[in-house]
Amino acid sequence: MIIAVDGPTASGKGTIAKALATRFGLPHLDTGLLYRAVGRQVAMKGGNPDDAETALAATAFPDSLLEDPALRNEETGGFASRASVHPAVREALFDRQRAFATRPGGAVLDGRDIGTVIAPDATVKLFVTASVEARARRRHAEMRERGIVVTLQEIEKDIARRDVRDMERADSPLKPAPDAYILDTTAFGRDQAIEAAIEVVQEIAAKQ
Ligand code: C5P
Repeated sequence: MIIAVDGPTASGKGTIAKALATRFGLPHLDTGLLYRAVGRQVAMKGGNPDDAETALAATAFPDSLLEDPALRNEETGGFASRASVHPAVREALFDRQRAFATRPGGAVLDGRDIGTVIAPDATVKLFVTASVEARARRRHAEMRERGIVVTLQEIEKDIARRDVRDMERADSPLKPAPDAYILDTTAFGRDQAIEAAIEVVQEIAAKQ
């Protein structure tokens, strides 16, 4: 069983994907980390992620970079989002994601284009979303816990900017696959969102 979990920044798709992987005993790949590694590699070299050649060169990042805690910060997220618009970057990361998706026992992948591009053949496609306000509040609480001082307004602006960039890029824009199940978690807490996702997967898997 391949489970594709797509959605915008801070929608809770990562938490849901991880929980589904545990629940159904499948390996999980957070594909955003690959784009973040590219963004981080560009930043470390002092390059410009808007330049396609610079961003493409950064796709040859060492695997050890995937463990870098700086991958999680907002600056890296912004660099990743800018680097991810280049078709050559997306192509360079395709094989690695596709190989993971087609593992013999199945897999859970989360990202922006899993159900549309990486695994259009996925058994279950979830598109996890929530209002910008709800996502900003969650991200704000998360950052406060990590001791990072930033205003809610700044986060809201940043999320809205990333949404526009992810949805309006020409290559593999963020959008639900026609056969995706839309899970709006605006009114849900963490556990409720996970429960809802498990139910959807069970229902769809039972019909297979
Ligand atoms: O999901 P996360 O916020 O870690 O992703 C960082 C950035 O990488 C996103 O803003 C998006 O631009 C890009 N990305 C992508 N396709 C994916 C996963 C992430 O374009 N499958």
